[in-house]
Amino acid sequence: MDNVGIMRCAIYARYSTNMQRAASIEDQVRQCRGYAAQHEGYEIAEEYVRFDKALTGATVKGRDSLSFLLDAAKREPRPFDVVLVDDTSRLARNTEDSLRTVAIFKFNNVAVVSVSQGIDSRQKSARQLLTLNAMIDEQYIVGVADKVHRGQEGRVLQGLVAGGRCHGYRNVPIEDPTKMAKYGRPAVVGVRAEIDEEQAAVIVRIFEMCADGMSLSQIAKTLNAEGVVSPQLSRNRNQRSWGTSSIREMLYNERYRGVLVWNRTQKVRNPETGKKVSRPRPASEWKRVDVPEWRIVSEELWKRAHDSYAERKRNFSALTTKSGVSKASTSKYLFSGLLVCGECGANLVIVSGDGKRAYKKYGCPSHRYRGTCTNGVMIRLDRLEEQLLHYIESEILTNEMAAYTVGRFEQELNKRLSEMVAQSEDYKSAADNLRRERDGIRAKAERIVTAISEAGHSTMLLKSLADAEEKIATLEARIEAHRPPDVKHAVAEVREYAYKSIFDMKSLFRGVIQKAKVKLAQHIKELRLTPKQRDGEWVYEVTGEWELLPENKCVILLVARDGVEPPTRGFSVRCSTN
Ligand SMILES: [Zn+2]
Repeated sequence: MDNVGIMRCAIYARYSTNMQRAASIEDQVRQCRGYAAQHEGYEIAEEYVRFDKALTGATVKGRDSLSFLLDAAKREPRPFDVVLVDDTSRLARNTEDSLRTVAIFKFNNVAVVSVSQGIDSRQKSARQLLTLNAMIDEQYIVGVADKVHRGQEGRVLQGLVAGGRCHGYRNVPIEDPTKMAKYGRPAVVGVRAEIDEEQAAVIVRIFEMCADGMSLSQIAKTLNAEGVVSPQLSRNRNQRSWGTSSIREMLYNERYRGVLVWNRTQKVRNPETGKKVSRPRPASEWKRVDVPEWRIVSEELWKRAHDSYAERKRNFSALTTKSGVSKASTSKYLFSGLLVCGECGANLVIVSGDGKRAYKKYGCPSHRYRGTCTNGVMIRLDRLEEQLLHYIESEILTNEMAAYTVGRFEQELNKRLSEMVAQSEDYKSAADNLRRERDGIRAKAERIVTAISEAGHSTMLLKSLADAEEKIATLEARIEAHRPPDVKHAVAEVREYAYKSIFDMKSLFRGVIQKAKVKLAQHIKELRLTPKQRDGEWVYEVTGEWELLPENKCVILLVARDGVEPPTRGFSVRCSTN
């Protein structure tokens, strides 16, 4: 904007084979050039037409051309005023990254325009629109991740080992003699786990000792004293001995009862490092398959050992939970970990109530347990969740937002439809060819039948008739496979998906806590609760960053009404002497 009326445009394009909308670099750049041509004063800064190839885009790390443009935007004077992209999914494949990228350009007074979606970062609603678009793009990534996962599932179902070694079993390679690998050896197509009798005997003994009431450390000591070989440890630990954790792990390893459990973890990309890390999945999503040939421990022994272990744990926890709060007990609530004391910055935790005889209440732990914070206002868990959810539903997941999302999905729908029309043309001609071939063979089969009726059957005639019939069956199957895609069905599917994804956001918050927590954490950084007095009533003023709101800040008032308590003297005295 330094030259009056002239907008110098950079273009950024990205191609990745695993993108749903795999527009080529050339197509993307053409789209952007077309946009510039339609807008007066828009000029392409040719040396800033850049692209990245074949990166998955799940993270912005390692995307050289994008980094180049970001660096260039920071220069003084800046070399361009606008960055044109075909689609926001070119910038990043997750909400955080694309918002951050746009924010950096914006900070340097460079606008970002996504040409095919018509979003201009100078628009008032740009932030909301970008968030929604990025969320839709994320759905695609989730879809791809699902497919990768399904491949693994298939392998597991074939009875192959999904990875790693396990004490009690030997991994035996499965060879395919029809395929040859290097050095003339058959190719290894998988690995099968076989029971190692010697190790299996030790596992049975561990379960028996546990069933007999021995503690984990007693079992470990016994095995170490006897010099029994322990499971192989990770490479950085050179000492091989039995410990309580490895024994506990074995007690819970369902492979020993002939059950393979998988889907226990999932790979999630760390937005900062770009690396994938493993996260546990909730037990409800675990999958099991019986593999009887893996059983080492009888069902009866498994049950006896677990009953005995559970009973000892119950007795143990009865002794320990009476004193102090357990941090883990707060982690199963929707907003825990996001709530911060406005006075001292500590994470708010459940400070009172067990949920049965008394309501659970959030409060500041620095006040309650250490007496180092003046914030003594408590708020009931249910009231806090209800009020915050109500706010999210009424202010963020509005009809306007829903309408926009449906609009975006309809765009997708149209693209998908034209793809399908093109595809069905191809299918139609392929199917016509197959039909012609089939009709030819049918005619031949009829001639054979006529020949048989006139000249009597011969082995040769019968054989060629059978061959012809087999060919016809094969062709029928191929014609069936080339049936044009069912457009009507697809439309219904996409539409349903559109509406579902909107309502998913709503139901998510009312549904599975673990899932909702992940979503909340993605869109809310932290919620700062500051105690305020209003009309003689205690309220919590909530401030925080909500990505879906037009401004970064919002203030909600939560009626606390659940009392104020003085710091507990006993705790503060004990803490100060420690
Ligand atoms: Zn505090």
